[in-house]
Amino acid sequence: MTDKLIKGLIRNKKVRVYLCKTTDLCELARVKHDLWPTSLAALGRVLSVTAILGGMLKNDDEKVTVHINGNGPIGTIMTDGYKDGHVRGFVGDPHLMLVDNHTNKLAVGVIVGKDGYLRVIKDTGLKDDFAGTVKLISGEIGEDFAYYFTVSEQIPTAVSVGVLVDEKNSVIAAGALVIQMMPDANEDDIVYSEELIKDIGSISQQILNQQDVSKLAIKLFKDIEILEETELSFRCDCSLEKMYSALITLSSKDIQDMIDQDHGCEIVCQYCNKKYYFNEDKLKEIIVEKAVNNR
Ligand SMILES: [Zn+2]
Repeated sequence: MTDKLIKGLIRNKKVRVYLCKTTDLCELARVKHDLWPTSLAALGRVLSVTAILGGMLKNDDEKVTVHINGNGPIGTIMTDGYKDGHVRGFVGDPHLMLVDNHTNKLAVGVIVGKDGYLRVIKDTGLKDDFAGTVKLISGEIGEDFAYYFTVSEQIPTAVSVGVLVDEKNSVIAAGALVIQMMPDANEDDIVYSEELIKDIGSISQQILNQQDVSKLAIKLFKDIEILEETELSFRCDCSLEKMYSALITLSSKDIQDMIDQDHGCEIVCQYCNKKYYFNEDKLKEIIVEKAVNNR
């Protein structure tokens, strides 16, 4: 079953729901970054909510970036989401494996930490891009995003997100659920939604049991009016041209040093680990191009 995001309305259009399955894209992120289970769960959770944030964008050329740092061992978590359903991202330390002794669950909150922030930046191509920052509540990601939506975007929101990893460390189910109150929602709608979230329980377990997310949406929300379905994927839009544009911003002296010391340079895309190699001749070309541009 392909990864998919479902956008819909329940409770006579007074409550908006976003439900996504992200199993395959989390598994691809694991392979690309060689993620160990707890790092995988952390990045997978952020990627899943990022996919939903991407689905909230208005136009195809917009992008949303999530930046989390809670001063925990994982360091920074960065993700990008796009309206067309693709996401990408990375974490500072991909090799963390830590289980909570009491719950036997992956200790995401511990490796992320909570002495820090969650920032969401919407790149709309305009000068005044939207950016909202909140402090982290627990580092468990779901709660932190719920707090972000409620405080920064002022939309009462519940978030449930999860990544299930098997004993071979592969992702067997991942996904997220975001429930938001529309402006005309009343107390009954809020109570109803709170109960619903409780009944649904673990979203990754629900996805494990029903991998067809359209069917799952109908099962979980009997009265859902589906507005949009978008396929999701992990994809990075890095390219040789983009790496070239980055290289050319370095000083000619720095580039000359690469020629003298290493006879070339390798650039690794931090979002997808793809390697780009520039040999000595290519670097010499860049120096010439810089000289021409500066003339
Ligand atoms: Zn890349």
